Amino acid sequence: MVTNSSADSTSAALQVATDAVRIVLVGTTHAGNIGSSARAMKAMGFRQLAVVSPRHFPSADATAMASGADDLLADAHVTDSLEEALRGCAMVFGTTARDRHLQWPVISPAEAASEAVAAANRGPVAFVFGREASGLTNAELDLCQRAVRIPTEPTFSSLNLSQAVQICVYELRMAFLQQRLPSLPTAPGDAADPIAGASAIDLLHRHFIETMAAVGYFDPTNPRLLERRLKRLLIGANMRQSEAQIMRGFLTGIDRKLRRLSDAGSDD
Ligand code: SAH
Repeated sequence: MVTNSSADSTSAALQVATDAVRIVLVGTTHAGNIGSSARAMKAMGFRQLAVVSPRHFPSADATAMASGADDLLADAHVTDSLEEALRGCAMVFGTTARDRHLQWPVISPAEAASEAVAAANRGPVAFVFGREASGLTNAELDLCQRAVRIPTEPTFSSLNLSQAVQICVYELRMAFLQQRLPSLPTAPGDAADPIAGASAIDLLHRHFIETMAAVGYFDPTNPRLLERRLKRLLIGANMRQSEAQIMRGFLTGIDRKLRRLSDAGSDD
């Protein structure tokens, strides 16, 4: 058999890159939408599908709508929690048809795709899609580092789930093919000190909340607003791993000092 080895190696490299992308469908009601999302993904070269608490799955409707992409359905990772579906991700994009109050900056699928290409060098990247009737909850969006909205007519913003998936995977394919990279500030040594991943930012965020509570800054009766604002600040900083470590070290220093003060107080 004659093969075009250059084209083969290009497509193999593309497959490795696109396998870093995980499409996560949360609480899907109509199994047919899972099938048509799988079809949308396969046509654009993506294979990693996760479904969180689907109402019906596996299902004949899903298989029918997959129309030949049933291998993705067979390999789909079915979980009970979004956290589990996102485990190990370097970056998580949550899609939403609505502007949400105090959500992260909302970006377009093309912008998200460029960021995803960059983040895929650090680990898996997830795009999360919500329920047909109600989308993603705020708690679910809180697990995402970016909110992605497909620009629509303002008065008719909600697309069919699998059509939203199609637009996002199309933009992802274009970005992976062109290796469009966002222009992050760079300095010598940056390659050895990558941008902190989602789990590092999450740990830092939790550490901040705990230490703020310990020093009496954090009002436990009204935690949501501060937690969100702080998360947004930490995500928006695009900090490097070493910078996140500086902050963790600083917070640990405060924790130690507080413990020493409280031990000294209890000696009195
Ligand atoms: N009524 C719901 C819409 C759900 S549509 C709501 O107001 O949120 C099902 C899913 O498709 C959404 O959760 C989202 O993941 C995706 N979706 C639909 N329209 C979209 C749009 N304009 N931009 C981004 N994602 C969209």
